[in-house]
Amino acid sequence: MRTAGVVGGGPAGLIAAEVLATAGVAVTVYDRMPSVSRKLLLAGHGGLNITHSEDRDRMLPRYGRAADLLAPMVDAFTPADLRDWCAGLGEETFVGSSGRVFPRSFRATPLVRAWLTRLDGLGVTIEKRQRWTGWSGDALRFAGVVDGVEREVAHDVTLFALGGASWPRLGADGGWIPAFEARGVAVAPLRAANVGMRAAWSAPFAERFQGVPLKSVALTVRGQGRPAVRGDAMVTRTGIEGGPVYASGAAVRDALDADGRCVLEVDLRPDVPLDRLAQRLGRRRPKDSRSTWLQRSVGLDPVAIGLLREATGNAVPDDPAAVAALVKAVPVEITATMPIDKAISSAGGIRWSEVDDDLMLRAVPGTFVAGEMLDWEAPTGGYLLQASYSTGVWAARAMLRRLAG
Ligand SMILES: Cc1cc2nc3c(=O)[nH]c(=O)nc-3n(C[C@H](O)[C@H](O)[C@H](O)COP(=O)(O)OP(=O)(O)OC[C@H]3O[C@@H](n4cnc5c(N)ncnc54)[C@H](O)[C@@H]3O)c2cc1C
Repeated sequence: MRTAGVVGGGPAGLIAAEVLATAGVAVTVYDRMPSVSRKLLLAGHGGLNITHSEDRDRMLPRYGRAADLLAPMVDAFTPADLRDWCAGLGEETFVGSSGRVFPRSFRATPLVRAWLTRLDGLGVTIEKRQRWTGWSGDALRFAGVVDGVEREVAHDVTLFALGGASWPRLGADGGWIPAFEARGVAVAPLRAANVGMRAAWSAPFAERFQGVPLKSVALTVRGQGRPAVRGDAMVTRTGIEGGPVYASGAAVRDALDADGRCVLEVDLRPDVPLDRLAQRLGRRRPKDSRSTWLQRSVGLDPVAIGLLREATGNAVPDDPAAVAALVKAVPVEITATMPIDKAISSAGGIRWSEVDDDLMLRAVPGTFVAGEMLDWEAPTGGYLLQASYSTGVWAARAMLRRLAG
């Protein structure tokens, strides 16, 4: 019987194990943690947004620079396939108001439990507390996490699905990079993605508004020429976070890399054009305080007014045109992204030049890679899990072709 080794028991590794075992391959999954899929289970605490319902043409660009590379893989295992797969494990899914897809239970535990039972039925062996430490020739080297015992194993084909480096205590810590580089595989540095940003708020602003959402804003990174990202952002004690902030992450990193600084422009009223805002602001009643004026004429709430004050050193101008321009682009100086261990995902990973169309490493024939350890990123919205599953299925099918000769 042909054997496959799958190193990393997250969604990318386990779906590959399922495809391989269903085709009759003897599969062993190795993971350094005492149980597999810890990140998937944690994602369940937020409702488990497993994929997105938007159509292909809207979805693929979410993968940015990797969109064309991931397209055939997402086509081969689509969001509809992923939803069917969930249903097959007893977890029907539904489309939330934002178009995001969730299991009805809003949890990952029932799905993972049913999945592990299925894998067991398919004869998949899961070896836990086994940390992959590198290669010995073509054999895989593991160290027992508890007993420290080192051993070498060989398989006919191997898949690595070791994840990125966010939330390292869940298992994926990027510790695989030196071994891959020693084997001549180029890796783009892992960086925090889908993470909050640091902003140097004044103490009074941070104290008053931490935890308060800036509702329905649009964010643009100054000088990057990228489209604005809309949604609700959240003021935190040390900066700003939330969907549109995460989605601006790549642009923020590019700006910080290029200039050492980044200005995030917040459009507080993205649905109202500049001239309409100026017109409305021009109707100030003599007795209106500045706050009343901003609230009555253009509907700004206290946190939005606080942000204007913060950006102007508490000197919001009186001129309607100047205030309108400010409302459309309040500058927030971003000093850094939050650290990678607080990030939902990581950017960077094995460069696409290092794998062929089958996701096989050019430097190590018979060895494939999938999931977040590849060099792609995407915003939150179910895109991360979708691509993890799609690349896992893609690699596993290619492994089957290779085994078939
Ligand atoms: C808090 C949080 C919430 C999230 N919510 C969502 C969401 O709602 N929707 C969404 O799409 N995405 C979400 N994500 C992201 C998503 O969980 C990941 O993108 C996805 O799990 C990546 O899958 P993977 O299989 O590539 O890697 P992982 O799930 O990270 O799995 C990698 C596995 O490899 C193992 N491993 C690592 N190194 C070694 C080694 N040296 N030896 C042996 N084993 C090793 C790890 O223990 C781990 O089990 C969330 C992430 C976080 C942190």
